[in-house]
Amino acid sequence: MNLTEDMIRHVVSQVLAEVGRIPAVGTGNSSPKTVSVTGVGARGIFQSVDSAVAAARVAFLELSKRPISDRKRIIDHIRRISISQAEELGRMEMLETQIGRLDHKIDKLRTLGERTPGVEFLRSEVFSGDHGLAVIEHAPFGVIGAITPVTHSLPTITGNAVSMIAGGNTVVVNPHPSGKRVAVEGVRRFNEAIASDIGIDNLICVIAEPTLESAQELFDHRDIALICVTGGPAVARAAMQCGKRAIVAGPGNPPVVVDETADLARAARCIIDGASYDNNLLCIAEKEVFVVDSVFDSLLAELRSAGAVQLKSDQIERLTAKAISDMSDGSRKKQVAAKEFVGKDAAVLAQAAGVSVPADTRLLFGETLHTHPFVTVEQMMPFVPFVRCRNVDEAIELAKHYEHGFRHTAIIHSTNVRNMTRMGRIMDTTLFVKNGPCFASLGLGGEGYLSFSIATPTGEGVTTPLTFTRQRRCSMIDELCILGSA
Ligand code: NAD
Repeated sequence: MNLTEDMIRHVVSQVLAEVGRIPAVGTGNSSPKTVSVTGVGARGIFQSVDSAVAAARVAFLELSKRPISDRKRIIDHIRRISISQAEELGRMEMLETQIGRLDHKIDKLRTLGERTPGVEFLRSEVFSGDHGLAVIEHAPFGVIGAITPVTHSLPTITGNAVSMIAGGNTVVVNPHPSGKRVAVEGVRRFNEAIASDIGIDNLICVIAEPTLESAQELFDHRDIALICVTGGPAVARAAMQCGKRAIVAGPGNPPVVVDETADLARAARCIIDGASYDNNLLCIAEKEVFVVDSVFDSLLAELRSAGAVQLKSDQIERLTAKAISDMSDGSRKKQVAAKEFVGKDAAVLAQAAGVSVPADTRLLFGETLHTHPFVTVEQMMPFVPFVRCRNVDEAIELAKHYEHGFRHTAIIHSTNVRNMTRMGRIMDTTLFVKNGPCFASLGLGGEGYLSFSIATPTGEGVTTPLTFTRQRRCSMIDELCILGSA
């Protein structure tokens, strides 16, 4: 019988699993602990952080022996499943999380499959000269610990897995408890396809019953080389205090400015498209709009004629009383979006406001003061407040204030280059969109590539495989090189 290399690897890994005990490789000072490897065949699904990290570590060591072309094959499986099973998995995510819109859940998985950057991003830099050659390569970190949000449970895992594996890493995910079932199912399908083709199981691992405690365990685990969190303020803070290198894709509250030179019909369409996408769950989505007084009424008329529904002030107040709640954060009281309304359809919000609108209404909007809770809070709902401003300077000033210093995303609609440049400089955000919907900044209708983890406070920006690599320089010195004159 002629055994292929893959078959031999598969047999060896089965034997290892049955032998069942291998030393976990540690980075700390404590003596290496022996962990039972029940991982092979688990398809990445684990009950405990310890067993998940041990299995991901075995998978990492195996992946490290493989050529980059294998990483590409692995990523191709993830992409293929994300595209071909988008409908079924999107439906599953919608059913479980009960937030957002089904068509956009499906769209997110499909576009991730098409637009995520892969191994082609791992280009080496080369310096050559009289003294030889220096090549800067991109080396993996090892096992990465990832925390993912409920707003895009499987899409975040999918994008993270593609980038992290392209960089040569493996990953253990602690998903949001309200999106854990679709996370587990997606991970199972990815590993199944990868293991049967490449012979490595558990490249992507998931904690089946995630809790805040398991997230903390992941942060603290000595075999986790790097943390990547995608979520709101609490988890962003926790990751930055965990004592490890962390890539933090934190919260936003993206403001939009519309000045007197804007194409108003286009601005209205873009705001509706961006703010209504997945019922405003995107962290980059238009959350509040500051409009120059001279075009305020005309812009609102354009929104109405493009199908958005305007609420009157008493209706806005009725909605606000239900959709924004008080929370105490230590000694401080703050306002937050009420869970029952996050990511719900515009028709549900309208009902809470005491209005009946057609079920397919994409967006509600209305005029508010700049101090209104829908302006100050990252609300993640398809109701957008519009604030009247004296001039573009005031609009930019308010946009800066209500972005809260997250340096996440800002948008302007203008044909005045000076205003665009000025706002870009003042906002200093990770993403800045001019004359488009928010998602143009992720390569959807704009240039560039897609990821659902946009590292804001830690500064890596839209994450790519390079985000998850270390730089390694290989030097070859003078006469050993083929360089120079003969
Ligand atoms: P969330 O902060 O409630 O939860 C995110 C994840 O963090 C979940 O897995 C949750 O279980 C975990 N978590 C929460 N508090 C924690 C703590 N103290 N320690 C450890 N883990 C903790 O957010 P969400 O509602 O799931 O998602 C929406 C938030 O995520 C919004 O603020 C949005 O802006 C942000 N987000 C940012 C990006 C980005 O790329 N920057 C992408 C998507 C979502």
